[in-house]
Amino acid sequence: MEFRAARDIKAGEELFIQYTEPTFSTSRRQEELKPYGFQCGCESCTTSSHSDLVRKQLHRNIPMRVGYSRLVVFLMTPGLPESYVVDHSLQQLELIEHAGLEVSHFYSMHLKFLVEAYCAAGNVQKVLIYMRKAEAIERALSGGEEKSIKALMKMIKEHQRWDWKKKIQDVTEAAGFYA
Ligand SMILES: [Zn+2]
Repeated sequence: MEFRAARDIKAGEELFIQYTEPTFSTSRRQEELKPYGFQCGCESCTTSSHSDLVRKQLHRNIPMRVGYSRLVVFLMTPGLPESYVVDHSLQQLELIEHAGLEVSHFYSMHLKFLVEAYCAAGNVQKVLIYMRKAEAIERALSGGEEKSIKALMKMIKEHQRWDWKKKIQDVTEAAGFYA
């Protein structure tokens, strides 16, 4: 069996295997664990009042299609700041990392939004932060070597959204829109 980590592991921290969807509430997870005949002793199950609260906030996540629509609106609207896309994703990312739920599909989705939005805004430092996180998840899921900063920088500069906001601004100005 091979274990690949999507986040840092403390010395002596026990590793768990998921038998059910980890973003479900404690009672729902316990219900789904019944056929296996054991009581889960992970941190989320033993601190359910806190972990359930975090999950409740996580499920206030905007649906994926709404997230994509917002991203498109941001890309196509000159002058609309990146906070329109990134605020919600940053808040959700913090929750996910706090709960150690990096394995959740929400995590990859928000990382993708952040990379796209910061790429479009031409903010290389921010893109690097979230691209590295996305790469770590990708490696945890499919293996492979860690990419060098040089390789990541190349990916950013070749990204289809790189500096997009500036380009769309120039194009709309040249065309006489928003004059
Ligand atoms: Zn558990």
